[in-house]
Amino acid sequence: MATEYRNFIDGEFVVTGGDPLIEVRNPANGELLAFVPDSGAAVVERAVEAATRAQPAWERLPAIQRAGHLRAIATKLRQHKDRLAEIITREQGKVLGLATVEVDFTADYLDYMAEWARRIEGEMIPSDRPGESIFLMRKPIGVTAGILPWNFPFFLIARKLAPALITGNTIVIKPSEETPINAFEFAHLAQEAGLPPGVFNLVSGRGASTGSALSSHPGIGLVSFTGSVATGIRIMQAAATNLTRVNLELGGKAPAIVLADADLDLAAKAICDSRVINTGQVCNCAERVYVDRKVAEAFTTKIAAHMAATRYGDPMADRSVGMGPLVNQIGLDKVAAMVTKARQDGAQVVTGGDLADLGQGFHYQPTVLAGCRHDMEIMKKEIFGPVLPIQTVDSLEEAIALANDSEYGLTSSIFTRDLSSAMRACRDLRFGETYINREHFEAMQGFHAGRRKSGIGGADGKHGLYEYTETHVVYMQH
Ligand code: NAD
Repeated sequence: MATEYRNFIDGEFVVTGGDPLIEVRNPANGELLAFVPDSGAAVVERAVEAATRAQPAWERLPAIQRAGHLRAIATKLRQHKDRLAEIITREQGKVLGLATVEVDFTADYLDYMAEWARRIEGEMIPSDRPGESIFLMRKPIGVTAGILPWNFPFFLIARKLAPALITGNTIVIKPSEETPINAFEFAHLAQEAGLPPGVFNLVSGRGASTGSALSSHPGIGLVSFTGSVATGIRIMQAAATNLTRVNLELGGKAPAIVLADADLDLAAKAICDSRVINTGQVCNCAERVYVDRKVAEAFTTKIAAHMAATRYGDPMADRSVGMGPLVNQIGLDKVAAMVTKARQDGAQVVTGGDLADLGQGFHYQPTVLAGCRHDMEIMKKEIFGPVLPIQTVDSLEEAIALANDSEYGLTSSIFTRDLSSAMRACRDLRFGETYINREHFEAMQGFHAGRRKSGIGGADGKHGLYEYTETHVVYMQH
């Protein structure tokens, strides 16, 4: 029997009634997993009211006590790690090993943000006047909203909730309609961990109903969104009606540059790992390769061997597979159409290039496309699937110019043994992050922020934390 979940508002799982239900299914085999509410504006109103009531007392709680609440949730997540990982795999399709890493990373992220409790510091500023002190206080914004995608659904709860709560905000979270179950489980554990009512509220539903009601609500001080560029623009437009702040973590088209002096084994392994992880559905992972003509053939052979060796299938039925399905039919159709178009435009399939016929589920073969050119759609548009297009270049300068000529600017990477090439790339690449001789994956103490259409603002580390605060300057004559 599929479970019917209820929204988590003011510390309780409430029957809100009247709203339609959404079916949640396993993308590997179509199994019906759950029903969740497609919450309307009245439910969103109730959640924002609860978060508004809870906020002043939460802000007044010493930060070290707020940290204790985050740590208590982290402990609960670790206690239920295996069960949570299975839930994530069932509803989203990533392999169990990665789902387990996601749960661990989520708990670690809560602990990491809890460490900031004693460091949310203000400043004293010298005054031009005698007998005056100027000081700058760092304060919470108030009630925040987190709107999430489906690709790292569990971790992204923490990426929004932890910086919001540690700085004294309360939050209303809307998970993706594709992957809401793990969020309800998170809420159960937060409730068990004793988080005060109203501090964290969870409302499920679609973007057009729940998401738009949340982003246009006048009671929200900051909408923190992770998802596609198109939705980011809609959210910014909705938030603009109240001049609500936005923090947008959007799509990517990450370039990986492989120079002639690179360790090709390392480059092939790292880029392949970054392409098949989560079935290529990761915003910061390598989406296009620029390889020096002198090593193009050798590199392509090596990466094609890695991609072809990636076993795929239903990750719950066969726990040894390295790659699961895409999240839904729309994702699968998009990937298939992009590969078809790339072939028509002249790309050559080195490995893969087709749907993976497993009888059920949204599976696509790990694919390498050679002979790609800058004017092809596959080199410009986000693929979000296990497909790697490769273009040859004749110099580092050419690679950097092509990499920068993109509407996206989230992450980038370079593989070289030459320090000055690596430094020139860091100087000239216009991206939020550059990885040198390693796979694309950020650290929680860094700063994950996109340029151009990849976003506004950022997450993680000190700078991500401060996005959830505003400054209050006090001039004191004494
Ligand atoms: P999406 O934009 O389709 O949906 C994301 C969320 O927005 C969902 O919860 C959805 O219900 C909601 N939504 C949709 N329309 C809305 C509206 N009008 N108002 C308010 N909310 C609305 O994205 P997705 O398909 O879930 O996720 C994939 C995208 O996310 C990719 O483009 C990927 O690159 C991006 N992503 C970016 C990062 C990052 O850190 N930059 C991380 C993960 C994913």
